Amino acid sequence: MSETITRDRIATLARSLFARGLTFGSSGNISVRIDDGWLMTPTGTSMGEVDPERIAKLDDNGDWIGGGKPTKESFLHLAMYQQRPKAGAVVHLHSTYSVAVSCLADIDHDNVLPPITAYYVMRIGRLPLIPYFPPGDVNLAKLVGEMAGKHHAVLLANHGPVVAGASLEDAVYATEELEQTARLYLLLRGADTRLLSGEQVHVLQQRFPPSV
Ligand code: ZN
Repeated sequence: MSETITRDRIATLARSLFARGLTFGSSGNISVRIDDGWLMTPTGTSMGEVDPERIAKLDDNGDWIGGGKPTKESFLHLAMYQQRPKAGAVVHLHSTYSVAVSCLADIDHDNVLPPITAYYVMRIGRLPLIPYFPPGDVNLAKLVGEMAGKHHAVLLANHGPVVAGASLEDAVYATEELEQTARLYLLLRGADTRLLSGEQVHVLQQRFPPSV
């Protein structure tokens, strides 16, 4: 896919996420790997108003080489690309329900959300929680780097999700699945709930192994 088409796809999906309330203000960033580095929505810009020509371009080491200025959260994307060779895109949002779950005191840090639906298991699977650090903190970068090697999706405590996908569409759809599952989880809290069994999860993992 040409760089121009990729820039247009990033802008289109960024606007779509903004229009549906999955991101707000100038928060959130999405990126796509290209032949000579990666493209990412620039800092200080609403995802609802991304100009394809102002999308930031970074090299394989995460150094800024063109377009608008990249966000200080670009290390989240770099960690996924460096640790996961098959990752073609990364989405990071401050989406409300995922952030809400990331603030709960009683969640399992090794796997935050239970297997509520098959699509959650197929698109996200295991979701570890990364302890809170201020945005841009070097310790956050280090921990995300360590976890990115084992998981294509992680949840930053009191902050939001970081999700890699084989393609931009895969990364966006997985992030949306995570957000809706977080919403379901909160809706079901306190209700006697029938989750997928360990055997049902195992069958899904065998039939639909992660693509990234
Ligand atoms: Zn963030």
